[in-house]
Amino acid sequence: MGKDKLFGLIDLDWRFELTKFKLIRVLFKSRWFPLLLILFNLFIFVVILLSAFLGGYSAGNYNFGIMLVWILWWVLLMLVLVPVFSRTWCMMCPFPIFGDWFQRRRLFGVTQGKLAGLNLKWPKFLKNMWIMNIGFLITTFFSGFFTVRPLATFILLGGIILLAFVLGLIFEKRSFCLYVCPVSGFQGLYSQFAASEIRRKDPEICRKHTLKTCYLGNEKGYGCPWLLLPFSFEKNTYCGMCLECFKTCPHDNMGFFLRPPGVDILQDTKREPRRIDEAYKAFIMLGIALMFYSVFQGPWGVLKDMVRATTMKGYLTYISAHALFSLVILPGIFLLFSWLSRIFSGNKDVPLKKIFVSFSYTLIPLGLGVWIGFSFGIILPNGSYILHIISDPFAWGWNVLGTANFPWTPVFTGLLGYLQGATLIVFYLFSLALGFRISKQIYPEKSQAQRGWIPILVFLTLITLIFLWLFIG
Ligand code: SF4
Ligand code: SF4
Repeated sequence: MGKDKLFGLIDLDWRFELTKFKLIRVLFKSRWFPLLLILFNLFIFVVILLSAFLGGYSAGNYNFGIMLVWILWWVLLMLVLVPVFSRTWCMMCPFPIFGDWFQRRRLFGVTQGKLAGLNLKWPKFLKNMWIMNIGFLITTFFSGFFTVRPLATFILLGGIILLAFVLGLIFEKRSFCLYVCPVSGFQGLYSQFAASEIRRKDPEICRKHTLKTCYLGNEKGYGCPWLLLPFSFEKNTYCGMCLECFKTCPHDNMGFFLRPPGVDILQDTKREPRRIDEAYKAFIMLGIALMFYSVFQGPWGVLKDMVRATTMKGYLTYISAHALFSLVILPGIFLLFSWLSRIFSGNKDVPLKKIFVSFSYTLIPLGLGVWIGFSFGIILPNGSYILHIISDPFAWGWNVLGTANFPWTPVFTGLLGYLQGATLIVFYLFSLALGFRISKQIYPEKSQAQRGWIPILVFLTLITLIFLWLFIG
């Protein structure tokens, strides 16, 4: 059989190992890395928290904390880190550092034996994305305040850091990251599309190495803090890219690879199956994107007033409509199209739940494309503020880098809609290419897969058209 190629061009089995370069390999094996990155980000987040708490506004009415978090960090996450480098944010994230520090009783070296704290196992019924799904959705109820009230950003970030620490005292390893962190769920979901991955290199070497030090830990590093089996996992979703397995593998058998985007979306194994909680993450992210576009980048001032709680009635209407849309209406419509898929396929033996959950993964490329488009809509008009506020983070009249008086300069805003539209179309094409392969996985016969694919194709096209209309008008 010939190689499976996306668009007839991209070989799905193609990999390029970046850790074959000595410099990267040595870096990944050093205990200083990613620790130094984490400490650097901790410093930045301390300044963000301080400026958000002090609440100072510089000329142009912008606060350092707000700008750095909602313009720079969010945009970097969605535009570059997740689509290209998977969960590299988690590699350098400072949120769980205090929990790690407490459990390990040290910041740099490796603690042998039992970690400190209660080390409880996370309850089985919560080992999924539901807390993150609901938590993230609830966070967006307050989105109207985050960009205008620095204190709201302070409470959100401070709350995450505090919660990460408290849960680190009680539960084992990175339970917080795996099951609670609001930034974790969408990174996990969209990292399935990412153009890179961490994986074991040669399965045979892993098989022969019976003492699984990547899971158990050794004097060089900790057993996978994300409770994965580094020698066998096949999806990016729950690998926090902490690099401990590079340090603990005595055979240098872990690698960091570039790969074709989206290959994890086709993975559906017993150990890493497609799941309804992940499906809901995809719906919620798409629902939130639709709401954010309409409110923050659309022409409807009345929506902005509702989100910013100008009246309590308007605000409550917004919260209810937003939650109802993401949790019920959007999945409900998708269920209808999944049911149509089964009717069209002519195969009544495939469970509707399997069709619904499997096809929901087609929303991963599309959703990511929408969020990338949204990020363009943030950075191009507002990016120049960054130069301004980093020179005067507390709005005390400083000019540290000499850029405090840099004027507001929107870039390419005339082309913004087209850039967003073009991005969306590229990601839509990925959804189609991967989606038809999913259809062939769901239905045993090719003709069934072709017919069963039609309703989903229609759904994806309709969603894309709605967003194109929002972008370009
Ligand atoms: S899951 Fe959250 S807290 Fe954990 S590393 Fe990632 S972003 Fe940071
Ligand atoms: S497999 Fe585990 S130890 Fe290795 S990078 Fe991913 S989270 Fe870290």
